[in-house]
Order: sequence, then C-alpha cells, then structure tokens
Amino acid sequence: MWLSDNWFSCKFAGSNQKGFMQNKKQFKRYTVTSALPYANGPLHIGHLAGVYVPADLYVRYLRSNEKDVVFIGGSDEHGVPITIKAWQQGVTPQDIVDKYHELIKKSFAEFGISFDIYSRTSNKIHHETSSEMFKKMYDEGKFIEKYTEQYYDESHQTFLSDRYIIGTCPICSYEKAYGDQCENCGTSLNATDLINPRSVLSGKEPVLRKTKHWYLPLDQYTDWLKEWILEGHKVDWKTNVYGQVKSWIDQGLQPRAVTRDLNWGVKVPLSEAEGKVLYVWFDAPIGYISATREWAEQKGVEWEKWWKDPETRLIHFIGKDNIVFHCIIFPIMLKAEGSYIVPDNVPAFEFLNLEGQKISTSNNWAVWLHEYLVEFKGKQDVLRYVLLANAPETKDNDFTWKDFQTRNNSELVAILGNFVNRTLVLTHKYFDALVPQASQFNEDDLKAIAEIEAIPERISMSLENFRFREALAEMMNLARLGNKYLTDNEPWKIFKSDPDRVKSVLNISLQICANLTIVAAPFLPFTAKKLSEMLNIGQMKWKEAGNIHLLKPGHRINNPELLFEKIEDETINAQIEKLNATSRANQNDKFVPNPLKEPVQYDEFAKMDIRTGTILEAEKVAKTKKLMKLTIDTGIDKRTVVSGIAEHYDAKDLIGRKVCILVNLAPKELRGITSHGMILMAENPDGSLGFVAPPDNYVDGTEIK
Ligand SMILES: [Zn+2]
Repeated sequence: MWLSDNWFSCKFAGSNQKGFMQNKKQFKRYTVTSALPYANGPLHIGHLAGVYVPADLYVRYLRSNEKDVVFIGGSDEHGVPITIKAWQQGVTPQDIVDKYHELIKKSFAEFGISFDIYSRTSNKIHHETSSEMFKKMYDEGKFIEKYTEQYYDESHQTFLSDRYIIGTCPICSYEKAYGDQCENCGTSLNATDLINPRSVLSGKEPVLRKTKHWYLPLDQYTDWLKEWILEGHKVDWKTNVYGQVKSWIDQGLQPRAVTRDLNWGVKVPLSEAEGKVLYVWFDAPIGYISATREWAEQKGVEWEKWWKDPETRLIHFIGKDNIVFHCIIFPIMLKAEGSYIVPDNVPAFEFLNLEGQKISTSNNWAVWLHEYLVEFKGKQDVLRYVLLANAPETKDNDFTWKDFQTRNNSELVAILGNFVNRTLVLTHKYFDALVPQASQFNEDDLKAIAEIEAIPERISMSLENFRFREALAEMMNLARLGNKYLTDNEPWKIFKSDPDRVKSVLNISLQICANLTIVAAPFLPFTAKKLSEMLNIGQMKWKEAGNIHLLKPGHRINNPELLFEKIEDETINAQIEKLNATSRANQNDKFVPNPLKEPVQYDEFAKMDIRTGTILEAEKVAKTKKLMKLTIDTGIDKRTVVSGIAEHYDAKDLIGRKVCILVNLAPKELRGITSHGMILMAENPDGSLGFVAPPDNYVDGTEIK
C-alpha cells in the first residue's frame, strides 16, 4: 500500500484540530504567572516540582502552538522573615534580598525556566504599581479602617510584628514561642496570648499601643466568589483547589488588614500612615502586574491588555499553600479595583516530599537547585523528567534518589536514548547518514504510523487539562513505540536479505525521532534541542507533530551523540549519604538533654573507683551484635571487660586506646564471660558512641575524681 504525503497531512490536521479547547472559550492571549519565590533562601526541588517545571512546560507548549503568551516570574522581597534574617546577620534587608534574588534568578536561568521576565518586588516600578492600586481602592472606599492594640517596643520606638515577640506558650509552656505560633506544640497564637512577652529587639517587655490599619472586607465578596468559582468553575478547576476554596468560603471570610507597622516594604501612600507599609500578601501578587509592566516597557508594547482584556486567559501556577491568596484574596483585590480580569484557572499542586520526609529549608532537608546544577552538570532534563513523573498533582508525592536513578537508567537511557541512538547509528551505517526513502508499508508500519499521528493530540488534551504526568507518559509512549518498533523489525538482521524493508523501517524510525523533537521539547527542552541538532533540523512547531514526512528522503543527519548517560550507584549513594549527614546534624541540633538526676553526696561518688587504662586486646563476642570482649591494663591488673561497643568500633581499631574504667563495679556475667568493670562512653543523640578517655601520655591506673 502506497500512501501520499497529502493523505497523512490531511488526516493529521483533521484529528489535531478537534481535540483540545473543546467546548472552551478561545482566548486571544495567555498571561501565565508562577508563584514569586521568597528571597530569603535558595530554590529546592519542591519549588520546581510544584510550580516552575509544570508552568514552564505549559508555557513552552503554548509557544509551540504559536499562542501569544507572557510568562511572569520574580522574587518576593518584602515581609518580616527577611527583616529578621537581616537583623540576625547584622546586614540590611536589601542585602539579603540582593543575595538571594541573584542566586534564584541564576538557578532558574541555568535550569531552563523560560520566563519572559524575572523581576523583583523591591523594584521602583513595583512600589509604584502597588501604591497606585492601593490609592485607587482607598479613594473609592474599598477598605474599612480599624484601630487595634499592638505591641510596641519603647526603647526601639517601633511596633512589633508577631515574629518580633517571644514569650511563654499558654498551651505547652515552651518559653520561646513566637507571637503568631508556638513552634514547639504548633498552636497558632495571637501575640497577646503569650505569657511574659518580650521584644526580640530589646529583650524588654513590650507595651500595647493603639494603631490604625486598613482592611479589605473579604466577607463582602462572598456571593461573588460563590458565583464565580463555586458555580462557574465547578468542572474545570482541579478538585483539590476547588475543595480548598469551598472550605474557606464555608468557614466564612473575615476582613483582612492590608497594612502593617513595619519599615520594610511598600510605603502606604497616605500622609497619616507614617511608618506603615502594605502587608506582603497584598503587594506580592501585584508583583505579577508590575513585572508585566516592566517587560512591556522593555519590549515597547502596551501592558494593559495582558491584565484587563477579557480575551486574555490569566493562569496562576502555585503550590497548595498559596491557594487562598490566588483564588480568594488576589481575585477580590482585582475585582475591587475594578479594571482587571480574574484568573481563568489556578492549577495548584500539592507538596513534594524528599525520601519520605517533608522538605524543610530550616532543617536543610532538601535537594537545592544550585547544588544539583553543579553536581549533575548538564542533567537539567533528568531532574525535569523525574519531577514531572512524580508531580504532586492531586496529592503529596515523594522524591527519592533511587527513583531518580531508576527513571534515568531504565526510562531516559534505556527507552528514549537507546531508541534515538540505534536509529541514528544504523542510518549512518547503512545509508551514509542520509534519510532513506520508505517503500511499501506493512500492517506493523501502519499501526505505528497511526500511533505517531494520535499521540500529539493526546498530549495536548492532557496539557490543556493540566494533567502533566499523563502528558509526560504519552510523550514517552512515542519513544517507547519507536524502541519497540525498531526491536520488533530488527533491521540489523535483514539488511543483507531485504535492504528495501530496512529503508522503510529506518525512515519511520527517523520520523519518530523528528516527532520527538517537537513533542519532547516542552518537557525536555535541552534534549529536544540536542536531538534537533543531531537530525540537522530546526525547532519545529506543534502543528507539525504527527506528520510522518518531517524528514525528506536524502536529508543528511549529523553524528549521533548519547542523549542520556547511565547514573551509577556511587553517585546516588553519595547523595543519600549527604542527606543522612543532614539528618544526623538535625538530630544533634534538636537534642534535649535528660533532666538532672537526684543529688548525691560526695561520699557516695567517692565510692566509685575510676581509673585510666589501656586496651590490650579486643575481640567481638561470637553470636552477638553489640558485645566486645576487651582485655584492659588498669595499672593495677590486667582484666576482662565486656562492653557494648561492637556496632561502633572494629576490634583492630581498639587496641592501644586509652580508656576510663570503673574498676570496682561488681563482676557480671555476659554471654558466659565475666566482665570486671565498665568502660566510660558518651552517647550522641544519633546513637554513636565515643570514648571518654585521658590524653595518651597518662599512665595507666591514675585515679579519676
Ligand atoms: Zn506551645
């Protein structure tokens, strides 16, 4: 059966058009935002998996579809944690945000997150944009004013935010609870709940002072939220997002202060608001708008249509801790301001855990992006792949280094890399690097061709519905199909007997490779680019995907290189050991000593005869895990002591070691050996044991008192 180019392209065009955006509004352009990372620490894989990799994938897909899209990112640089960190380190808040903004921006760029702009909220344009927005809402009476009493540090002449006040927790009596939360028992607190409150700045007791603030009356927008989200987005929003929004609305919304007494942030643009700034939750999301303005200024285009034209589709990529801000509070701000559109979708992700534990910046339990980029040079796509394969779309998910290795070795290397490499090597070997002309297609070929045509549409459907894992699996199905097709047809076995058949098989395999450069590009941009270069073609658009005539017969391909390389056990074990070391350090940091024992009189202590000694012989006690039989020179005699240290020390490392030994402990039989005394050991919180011993030049038998 012979098939013309025309037949395929027609069929392809027909099947590709009808699939996505079915029954959905067609938008003219897309404004895609991704949560602004807080500029007081570096980025870790949790940030990537829950926000930036999915957002980047989606945006790259839209661009490949020739959609008009702007992808916005930036650093969130205001808020109290930054001022506290600066105060602790004796630097300015600006120093802190400058340092982390640069680090974060660089990591994103190296990792290939393709923002159109990566801005920051300490920029002048952001201060202007958020001031203007506040002022317009203020002038139109959108806020309510309230006086509250708040703690004030008289010696520093400043109001204290919750994190600047510590005191005793009324629930668990922990003495270092913060004004907003007790970190010991986890209870949420008000600063006035604390017993014996103290200012972090001066250590003195703060006084309560009256202060005026402006509140956004969220409760007044309840009916609008119900209509817009609970009715309007019942079907298209993710169930985890919809469910959280519904529960916030059901609990009843309260007015929320948009200003606070602090000297770091966007100044409240009112003469009576000296010493007050906008709350960070108010100014941070406006950062998306400021960044769009900045980008538009740089490009010399107008910005307003990206935020105010109903033909623009606004999409926020965020983690689940941000749902209330992006689905309730920010939309209420936009609605109250009056001239903005609201998000059409907010595909929030759940959290990614690391080796079964919650990722924690303060405990250093994380895989840091800037370290990954150094330790796994050129392997950006491997991490993108693993994070997408485990994307916490609807529930929390886990990243493990073993899974990272398995997905690299048995999926990227064994399927995608192997297929591409075999195809290109065989083309060089049999056809001098020229794409062969296909002749007759058999049933197997036609089945493969039908799949090549169908897969791009299935990927589109999944991406349009924010099902990224499913989309990734479909993309890999194309590589899997190619790998199986090549293996089943065994061109290396039939080249001599049936060279025409080999031409067809390799033509189809090469067309699959060419299709992969298109459909893999949003997922694995570095790999797709490398593959395009090997095939000697440019980057093609999504509408070409599914076409099996992308490479013309006679087209010359370049030399093949490996797309992925195997990751060895030792590399993975080093990463696991790095985490274990962190874990041990965390345990030591958290160590709480046992309470003091009952007092003893000196007479009682003096009864214990403790001497310095030297280990002469050591031997593990057979059939036990812990016991070591030691012969010790006590200066008085040579004696046998059985000690529970065999899990921590090798016998050969013990000989010659100085020890302290309780020599008048009553003898005791352990596993048939009589032990005459006890070696003194210190035990670390992680369970490791260390000798308590005199310096090496001390003679045996000296008394310890
Ligand atoms: Zn507590």
